Amino acid sequence: MSILDRAQQMFVNGKWQASNGAEMQAVDPSTGESFVTLRGASAEDVQQAAEASAAAFVTWGKTPSTLRAQYLRGFAKGLQDRAPELIDLLMRNNGKPKFEAEICLGDAVASFEYYATLADELDAKQDQQVHHAGGEHRGYVRHEPLGPVGMIVPWNFPLMTAAWKIAPALAAGCTVVLKTSEITPLTEFVLAEIAQDIDLPAGVLNILTGGAEAGIAMSAAPQFRKISFTGSNMTGGKVMSAVSDRCLPVALELGGKSPIIVTADADIAQAVELVSMGIFFNAGQACSATSRLIVDKSIEGDLIDALAAAAKGLNVGSPYNEASEMGPITSAQQFQKVKQYLAGARDDGLDCVAGGNARDNEPGFFVEPTIFRNVPHNNTIWREEVFGPVLATTTVSSEAEAIAVANDTHYGLVGAVVSREWDDGKRIADQLVAGQIFVNSPQVVYPDSAWGGFKSSGIGRELGPWGLSGYQGVKHILSPVAA
Ligand code: NAD
Repeated sequence: MSILDRAQQMFVNGKWQASNGAEMQAVDPSTGESFVTLRGASAEDVQQAAEASAAAFVTWGKTPSTLRAQYLRGFAKGLQDRAPELIDLLMRNNGKPKFEAEICLGDAVASFEYYATLADELDAKQDQQVHHAGGEHRGYVRHEPLGPVGMIVPWNFPLMTAAWKIAPALAAGCTVVLKTSEITPLTEFVLAEIAQDIDLPAGVLNILTGGAEAGIAMSAAPQFRKISFTGSNMTGGKVMSAVSDRCLPVALELGGKSPIIVTADADIAQAVELVSMGIFFNAGQACSATSRLIVDKSIEGDLIDALAAAAKGLNVGSPYNEASEMGPITSAQQFQKVKQYLAGARDDGLDCVAGGNARDNEPGFFVEPTIFRNVPHNNTIWREEVFGPVLATTTVSSEAEAIAVANDTHYGLVGAVVSREWDDGKRIADQLVAGQIFVNSPQVVYPDSAWGGFKSSGIGRELGPWGLSGYQGVKHILSPVAA
């Protein structure tokens, strides 16, 4: 059976069953053609899944953490065993070139393996004693699973963003309903098949798809004790207000408009490589894309010339062409959005030194790697998340100015610095307001890193021990010493 046969189904309470919501298409963005018709979950479907997760929590929350660790290792192995199929799905439905699809899969595997290790130790670390002042009372601390959790993920890194949530939640002892993006649900459906293969108890992991209708039902389901959301600020705000009357905890992984600072002494070749990767990886459809280049005036001319040449030389094409270095935009909607930003930039008379156009006379959703030079800081291209391969640049005359310009945004997801000396890079990194800073480094994300934003880029952290504690509640038990 092919995973495409699951396209109109959902995985609830350990079984595949028909979905009852709206019909949608899974599209190959390199051609613009649909390759399978999907069906999302209805509000009733979501409710059924939430009930299944609540029933399963009664047992799963008490399952020894070492056993939960074994299931997590089963997911990691299942993903590795199905690597060719998953890589093909990420290429076909997301338009990712093979090397990008491999990174996405590798991150998902690493996440399950990492949280298996943390789960192994969890029970042994319970009931840590606290010695209270005065010696009259003793305390014990437990880290309890929160309960059933509703998860909502986007389309840009579908399998990876799901793994970053599911692995720590299952490790903690939570049960899960995952609503995938209606644009790219198929890789997560593979995760549901793996759950079946490894005999994960029914209801512990439920996976369905659908758009706003299913998303709204997720926020409304009374069974969830937390909603963990990754996506745009606009939808994240809707989720937050939908649960506000219940004061339900939310974790939000939102957007960014991240800066990359290049200092006067930076190596130009290294800067070209890091700036290009920062904006053109995944065709710029990354929350952490470093879409604002802040460069010292003294090297601006040399750097922009080299960057423009690199952008023009980037091999943009089908993921099935091994030479492709950048694929298409993933969806028709996002393609339209990027084109509107490019048209706006043209209307505003921005200085375009590379690209600037969509390839409208070709099939698929391809956009040229684009660089706008000396963009005014009040321009839309400088301030808004384009979510496409569009870089805005500006110059500064001092380190202090670079830091001030970098921090002048309501976002705070990541930042990057390219500088010859580590001490300079570190000093700048310390002053940037963002959740993760890359100094002279591509955006390598380890499972024991912290991932998440300051300011409007989100609430909470994923990955590392913080990812696990996001699904735990701390319980303190106190009694007199004599008791
Ligand atoms: P989106 O907000 O449009 O959709 C995200 C998810 O929310 C989808 O599953 C969608 O179906 C669902 N949804 C839509 N309407 C909803 C509603 N009313 N209630 C609940 N759920 C609803 O985002 P997108 O276009 O899929 O993803 C791109 C955005 O995600 C970008 O802003 C990007 O920066 C952000 N992102 C952030 C991170 C991070 O780790 N911070 C990672 C990846 C993507």
